[in-house]
Amino acid sequence: MAPKPEILAAFEAAKGFMPADEGLALYEAAEAAASLGLPLLEVGTYCGRSTILLADAARAAGIMAVTVDHHRGSEEQQPGWEYHDPTVVDPDVGLMDTLPTFRRTLHAAGLEEHVIAMVGRSPRIAAVWNTPLGLVFIDGGHTDEHATADYEGWAPHVAPGGLLVIHDVFADPADGGQAPYRIYRRALDSGAFTEVSATRSLHVLRRVPGTAV
Ligand code: SAH
Ligand code: MG
Repeated sequence: MAPKPEILAAFEAAKGFMPADEGLALYEAAEAAASLGLPLLEVGTYCGRSTILLADAARAAGIMAVTVDHHRGSEEQQPGWEYHDPTVVDPDVGLMDTLPTFRRTLHAAGLEEHVIAMVGRSPRIAAVWNTPLGLVFIDGGHTDEHATADYEGWAPHVAPGGLLVIHDVFADPADGGQAPYRIYRRALDSGAFTEVSATRSLHVLRRVPGTAV
């Protein structure tokens, strides 16, 4: 099912980097994964645009969405870089801080009760995490260092039959950076995941039962 109009409106109004068509594919994956009854986890909250979709699917299934970010922005979001937004800089600290905007986004969407926000570096949170997940959505840092750490930290927590969703997967370097593509290839080549669907750069993979990551 597509999200209700008010959820779609909140999604459209939210600041962020998730196009509508890929967002709908993410929502569909979240709905399917939610039937496992396990939490859905996102790496890369930013201002909560994609979180809305995971949270709404979680709400419908009576489970929680968890979202992970240090809220200081990725490399390409820093001042002077292509994706910088000066309105998400904390003037007191002089660094990016997307947490206040994220909280407003969730509040406006009426989804605060369905989300746990974890503030910190993805690999450090993964290192203390020990709960199987119905879905892991990787949309964090796009360097090889970050994407690899996200894959190694979170892919092992995807439950058998659960979904691993990776954003910004571009087979052709002319279309974008290769780090998400490389972890996508690694997931498939490991034999632990098979591809379910692809909507432009959003790829949905399923964990094969009985495999090690
Ligand atoms: N999903 C969002 C976009 C995420 S942008 C949307 O739909 O709009 C990527 C985010 O990943 C940034 O907010 C950045 O702070 C975060 N990030 C990058 N590397 C990270 C890391 N190692 N640990 C935690 N968060 C990280
Ligand atoms: Mg992305």
